[in-house]
Amino acid sequence: MIEYDNLLRRTSASVCGVSPLIYGTTKFGNPIIAWGNYRFIKKLTRRVKTWWECTARKSSGCRCVAVTVNNRLMKLNGWHNH
Ligand SMILES: [Zn+2]
Repeated sequence: MIEYDNLLRRTSASVCGVSPLIYGTTKFGNPIIAWGNYRFIKKLTRRVKTWWECTARKSSGCRCVAVTVNNRLMKLNGWHNH
């Protein structure tokens, strides 16, 4: 459990780092972001805040959600299971 906490802390530290956030659209025209090796599909927007779901949610059951504010990555809720 302690090691898991450390992992989360390292994760949030890297969120504040320089990993580029790439915006695009899927072939179906849905907004998508790529961050590192992962891609997220837009889930909902409230004011300046946007929630993005990992594209592996269906295939891998990944519960990782990215939150962007003013088009900048603010945090990740959870971490990828893949
Ligand atoms: Zn994921």
